[in-house]
Amino acid sequence: MNCREVEKLVVPYIKDELTIDELDDFLEHVEDCDNCMEELEIHYMVDVGLRKLDQDDTVYDIVGDLQRKLESSAFRLQRFFTMQITKYAIGTLSSMALLVMILLQLRIWHQTGFLFF
Ligand SMILES: [Zn+2]
Repeated sequence: MNCREVEKLVVPYIKDELTIDELDDFLEHVEDCDNCMEELEIHYMVDVGLRKLDQDDTVYDIVGDLQRKLESSAFRLQRFFTMQITKYAIGTLSSMALLVMILLQLRIWHQTGFLFF
């Protein structure tokens, strides 16, 4: 994903409208690209910051808030991929269990002379 593509995703990101794949590429890019991180900070300040300042006039920690948002996005991604891996592992284990059951059954048939090998 290049800077122009990331720029287009900044607003959807703030609104939590990105898909998991977009989020993955987006986070990966902003982590390494200062320009896009700056872009994100500015949009975030304008979008979220002003809205919050409207609600109350206490000092509001925008950068800290964005940091937390980025962290929770990263966490969400990690959880998603962990779930994918778990699903895959369970799938693999079930197939293996099935295979073992078939082999055991074949062995029983073999021992009882049901099969000729
Ligand atoms: Zn960039």
